[in-house]
Amino acid sequence: MRRNVTRLINEYDILIVGGGNAGLCAAIEARETGLSVLVVDSATKFYRGGNTRHTRNMRCAHDTATETLSGPYTEDEYFEDLMRVTQGNTNEELSRLMIAESKTLLPWISRQGVKFQPSLGGTLSLGRTNSFFLGGGRAMLNSLYSTAEKMGVDVWYSSEVIDLKIIEGMFKSATITTNGKNITLKAKSLIAASGGFEANIEWMKEAWGDIANNFLVRGTPNNKGKVLQTLMQKGIETIGDPTQCHAVAIDARAPKFDGGIITRLDCVVFGVVVNLEAKRFYDEGEDLWPKRYAIWGRLVAQQPGQIAYIIFDAPCLELFMPSLYPPISALTVSELAEKLELDKQTLIETIDKYNKAVTPGSFNPFILDDCKTEGLNPEKSHWAQRIENAPFYAYPVRPGITFTYLGAKVNRDARIIMKKDELSNNMFAAGEIMAGNILGSGYAAGIGMTIGGVFGRIAGREAASFLNKKFIN
Ligand SMILES: Cc1cc2nc3c(=O)[nH]c(=O)nc-3n(C[C@H](O)[C@H](O)[C@H](O)COP(=O)(O)OP(=O)(O)OC[C@H]3O[C@@H](n4cnc5c(N)ncnc54)[C@H](O)[C@@H]3O)c2cc1C
Repeated sequence: MRRNVTRLINEYDILIVGGGNAGLCAAIEARETGLSVLVVDSATKFYRGGNTRHTRNMRCAHDTATETLSGPYTEDEYFEDLMRVTQGNTNEELSRLMIAESKTLLPWISRQGVKFQPSLGGTLSLGRTNSFFLGGGRAMLNSLYSTAEKMGVDVWYSSEVIDLKIIEGMFKSATITTNGKNITLKAKSLIAASGGFEANIEWMKEAWGDIANNFLVRGTPNNKGKVLQTLMQKGIETIGDPTQCHAVAIDARAPKFDGGIITRLDCVVFGVVVNLEAKRFYDEGEDLWPKRYAIWGRLVAQQPGQIAYIIFDAPCLELFMPSLYPPISALTVSELAEKLELDKQTLIETIDKYNKAVTPGSFNPFILDDCKTEGLNPEKSHWAQRIENAPFYAYPVRPGITFTYLGAKVNRDARIIMKKDELSNNMFAAGEIMAGNILGSGYAAGIGMTIGGVFGRIAGREAASFLNKKFIN
């Protein structure tokens, strides 16, 4: 009988931890130089690709309209947008580099087989700035995996890195749990692309306190920050605040992990949002939705019980993309309050006061229109329309954590910076695990994938060039 012969490899040139966008972009770039590359991921093959599976688009600078982008998006405009959303809390050198490199990312990623489609319309307003993957993040990943595998990149699924041997800033080997066994794998260089720590509720609680028990995690349960934690224990410099993250309001009925995009609710701007006390707490119409959606997770996290309710009426139902769950509906505001278990009288008063404060204007969901309230605290500055046409609707929402920002500090080569500002010899980081270098706070739609794509490519190139130089010398 023929026996399966398995090639035993205990050393690779480059070990990449994490098979999402950042890891795959790094793998392709590194493998192009001829070096041996292994990607390990804790997920099974079916669930490969971490949070990247859930994505729809990426934000890249471009000088002219393309087949799928409706107009130019210059580097300067991109940088201004980033400065605005982060309130200047970004590393300017790295963010300018990322934006400049994002221009070549689009054609590069297309060459790897990824296909794009025209932007989704409606209130997303991303048709000029963001490129949408045909078939979404999973199709995008399938293309990257197929290209990487054809090039000879090895991939180990269901393989979790649980420890790293690092001596004086130099990576030596990783302990990996695979097929129920712990093995030690040596590599000449390490690229950490293992996401954030959003799925590690205990770590989130250290940062946020017990309220983190009420957070929902929008993506993979595998991004537990094990590699980041180990790197931190072994002397890397970190960047970012552990409470900073991308967090949106998602349906409170979503599963604890991996609910994905279909649980997100984009209708805040069309109604009012009340807390458990049936009171409003923030201007729902502050800015266009793509520029503000990422503040709502944090806002809801600050409310009692970490829950809130988006309330709107019949004409608004058609204005936004439906989510997985149907809204809770009622023929009167009083009945709605009953269904939501909110104090009836207070909710009726909140809606009455709001309706009386709405001033006449021309409603236009695509611009900062002149429909606003006057005399409310807080005001609603745009898209304010009376909530008066039955049926009345509500979505309960909780903070949906997308990814955390505390991460590994890197330089422009994606090389990890150790304590005392010394550079690691052979360790690089890309994607969520170093997102804090670009995102000190805030977010603009599509930047997560750009961070991973740009720094993944840089990390792959630099890790390879470091090894090639080392061998030539
Ligand atoms: C619902 C949702 C929608 C999103 N939509 C968009 C969008 O449209 N555009 C955008 O730009 N961004 C979006 N994002 C953010 C985006 O997903 C991330 O910024 C990006 O995918 C991060 O890529 P990454 O490669 O760094 O991490 P990931 O894609 O999360 O990959 C990390 C991988 O590391 C693996 N891993 C973790 N720990 C270990 C370990 N110890 N050992 C081995 N493997 C490990 C995980 O299994 C995972 O596969 C979205 C996120 C979510 C959750």
